[in-house]
Amino acid sequence: MPQEITTLLTFFGGTGDLAKRKLYPSVYNLYKKGFLKEHFAIVGTSRADLTAAEFSDMVRESINHVVEDEDNAKEFISHFRYIKLDVGDEAGYQEMLKLNNELDAQYELKGNRIFYMSVAPRFFGTIAGYLKSEGLTTENGEFNRLMIEKPFGVSYETAEQLNNQLHEVFEEDQIFRIDHYLGKEMVQNISSVRFGNPLFDAAWNKDYIQNVQVTLSEVLGVEERAGYYDDAGALRDMIQNHTMQIVAWLAMEKPASFTDKDIRAAKNVAFNSLHIYTPEEVKKNFVRGQYGENIDGTQVKYLDEDGVPEGSQNDTFVAGRLKFRSARWDGVPFYIRTGKRLKSKQTRVDVVFKKGISIFGDDIELENPVLSILIDPKGGIEFRINAKDTTSDFKTRVDTMKWQVSYLDMERTPEPYERMIHDAMNGDGSNFADWNGVGISWKFVDAIQDAWDSEHAEFPNYISGTMGPKASDDLLAEDGNHWIYK
Ligand code: NAD
Repeated sequence: MPQEITTLLTFFGGTGDLAKRKLYPSVYNLYKKGFLKEHFAIVGTSRADLTAAEFSDMVRESINHVVEDEDNAKEFISHFRYIKLDVGDEAGYQEMLKLNNELDAQYELKGNRIFYMSVAPRFFGTIAGYLKSEGLTTENGEFNRLMIEKPFGVSYETAEQLNNQLHEVFEEDQIFRIDHYLGKEMVQNISSVRFGNPLFDAAWNKDYIQNVQVTLSEVLGVEERAGYYDDAGALRDMIQNHTMQIVAWLAMEKPASFTDKDIRAAKNVAFNSLHIYTPEEVKKNFVRGQYGENIDGTQVKYLDEDGVPEGSQNDTFVAGRLKFRSARWDGVPFYIRTGKRLKSKQTRVDVVFKKGISIFGDDIELENPVLSILIDPKGGIEFRINAKDTTSDFKTRVDTMKWQVSYLDMERTPEPYERMIHDAMNGDGSNFADWNGVGISWKFVDAIQDAWDSEHAEFPNYISGTMGPKASDDLLAEDGNHWIYK
């Protein structure tokens, strides 16, 4: 039986793209599954002028693709209210308070509140401040929680400032920093494969693993986002958050239990042992790139994209080597890479195990076993092992065992946003980023950015439609390794 959740959920940015595409359909799915029944209310707020009817129509439209029963949808939408509020307008929060208290009484919400910030990051701190000063957080509630969209700062300094602002109102365990990669089914599968199989669990260390690779490649270029992307670059757009959070699931210690507290503690052992590079070390361990045209010249180089400033030094590709100074990982490189206009869209993890010594004779060399966890676009697990060749003489060859997420599995898998909202309603922070991890990721990324900012790079340095600059392959070759996904 689904456990009914009692809460008021307020969406700041309630008329935005994210709310319409992801948030409302996710909440409706939770309603259809019985996690929300009688005791819930949803408040949408933004600065847009909307009547109650217009807002209801907007919500109805946004859930259209998941509605199966019109009466059920109507009942669901009857729990929605809209309030116009400019987030900087102090007086407006009093109106919101009044509405919240009415809803609390009408639906018996026990003072439970979740505030979801789906607005521009510059508003996060302002909203948090008013939630407290205007009394929107409750004293009597079982919980008051904050869900916060990315990006969480643009550097360590700005992230710390934001964090301090939030902590004036919410404790760390009340803050749910969203990284939607952590809501992905196959990212969550990393822990089941690793901790659910003693075979892998026991071998998850420097004695058995040669290197770990994380790839987040995209086919698309900058599209219409040059204004944002030229400031962020691949490093801040993809490495600081998603890539580092995936790395944490791979590099973490074994948690004492599968609770958010223990999971975070186990991840933080890894984060705390991550070596932050000096500018000299950045040169040796990180590669940046910017895309050129594709081979037949049908796609323009980054510098010719709309909105990209002349001579931009922005990185559209990053590859690097991470080092953890820990007993578990001493000497094991973690290679990461991400980029735009690469050969294919692919999010995956490849864990490269050490080769065995061949007992089969000098002419038979064994290969590295590889465990691959495929995240996007198709979920799956592959395990490459040495097995016997079918010829008459005894020889070995590499065979790959493959499992792919089925269509039935896909249908049953909740969208990351549905899962994350449900987790936050249950107070489970396992799949959210905590401050320690976010802060260290920023320090790590800032060190790289600072080193890059002080030196001119020769761009473009990779052809669109390839897997990035040659220097990315050279980085692994220096260690006698190569990218598993080519
Ligand atoms: P959007 O521009 O579509 O919507 C912004 C919302 O904020 C609107 O409802 C708008 O009315 C409201 N707003 C703007 N200024 C306001 C003000 N002064 N006072 C009150 N309300 C105001 O943005 P979005 O795409 O929905 O994104 C929202 C947040 O989610 C951003 O932080 C973004 O970085 C993050 N995000 C979005 C996506 C996505 O797929 N759209 C993905 C990841 C993260």
